[in-house]
Amino acid sequence: MKPYIRVCAEINLDAAAYNFRSMKENLKEDTKIIAVVKTDGYGHGAIPIARMAESYDYVWGFAVALAEEAVLLRKAGVKKPILILGFVFPDACEEIVRYDIRPAVFTMLSAEQFSKEAVRQGKTVHLHIKVDTGMSRIGLRDDEEGAALVKAISLLPNVETEGLFTHFAKADEQDKTDAKRQLSRYLAFSEMVQKLGVKIQLHHVSNSAGIIDLPEANLDAVRAGISIYGLYPSREVHRTAVPLAPVLTLKSHLVYIKEIEPGTAVSYGGTFVADRPMRVATVPVGYGDGYPRSLSNKGGVLIRGKLAPVLGRVCMDQLMADVTEIPEAKEGDMATLIGSDGGLELTIEYLGELSGRFPYELACDIGKRVPRRFWQNGRVVAEQDYYEVTGLTEW
Ligand SMILES: *Cc1c(COP(=O)(O)O)cnc(C)c1O
Repeated sequence: MKPYIRVCAEINLDAAAYNFRSMKENLKEDTKIIAVVKTDGYGHGAIPIARMAESYDYVWGFAVALAEEAVLLRKAGVKKPILILGFVFPDACEEIVRYDIRPAVFTMLSAEQFSKEAVRQGKTVHLHIKVDTGMSRIGLRDDEEGAALVKAISLLPNVETEGLFTHFAKADEQDKTDAKRQLSRYLAFSEMVQKLGVKIQLHHVSNSAGIIDLPEANLDAVRAGISIYGLYPSREVHRTAVPLAPVLTLKSHLVYIKEIEPGTAVSYGGTFVADRPMRVATVPVGYGDGYPRSLSNKGGVLIRGKLAPVLGRVCMDQLMADVTEIPEAKEGDMATLIGSDGGLELTIEYLGELSGRFPYELACDIGKRVPRRFWQNGRVVAEQDYYEVTGLTEW
């Protein structure tokens, strides 16, 4: 095992397991969970989380955004269904059918492409029809014409219309009027489709906010994303309904400590100038690792259970922290950028607010320079080092 002293994201799989159970307890008995692991599991590392969740009988399968993400999961040995939530380009058809991946479909053209490929391979392709009920992103229209399109798609050779889904635009807001309107539009459309004789096994609407706040939207399945990782979709959802535990901790170590005199400027642009003698620690992590530059002069790191404020601008690969009030701090000490130390905690949600960034975005942006180390039952069960593969092909 490599030490990963410069920086490491520690992923607590027990916390993710707790979050799954916690969501499950807030769902109807027969509602399944589709675990959303797009963008490498919101930056947490998709494969170990998927491998763990695959053993839960209430997890129907997984959802990702891209064909590449789906194929990667299959290559990692994931057997349960994998759904692609976004548009799938025709060049991915062959692999989608071969690996039995479920694409989101909302046009006749793409449905026909999957059907043709399934016929060619002598297999059945399982489609999930996306219907737009108010997000205006992707999805067919929730009217008679849309229902007729679903019917036509269902009649294509070697096609099974397995799922019908829509996505909430505002379920994370306190006012649920629009989310409830979307749900009614979805249910009405689903009935139209059923009346046309189309069989759909899996109806799914809810995201994390819906799981927490809209029990009436627990249909055959729900799509859980951010909550797996112990983060709430917003400040406005009812946290007590589904208690969650943060999964990711980001740790580094101090590489240098120096004393500076009053009048000394720190970092690019000299945006911080000491007004007294200070002790300054250098942390070898920066925005190149995904630590937001907008935390310049705002963020903090935890050292020996105390908060050391960020001084000056966050650089690409380094940042400086004030350890004047932490005289016991020394070079080599652990610095926690996300997570808790002593009684203090820096959450992704808090840092998101502080930096003016969306917490989802902050999690996804934790870069490929940061290795992930996965813990379960008090021991390391996996490590992901993105430097182990270059992804480069030379011609
Ligand atoms: C990302 C996504 C989800 C998961 O949303 P969370 O808010 O992270 O739970 C569900 N459905 C679709 C279509 C998505 O794109």
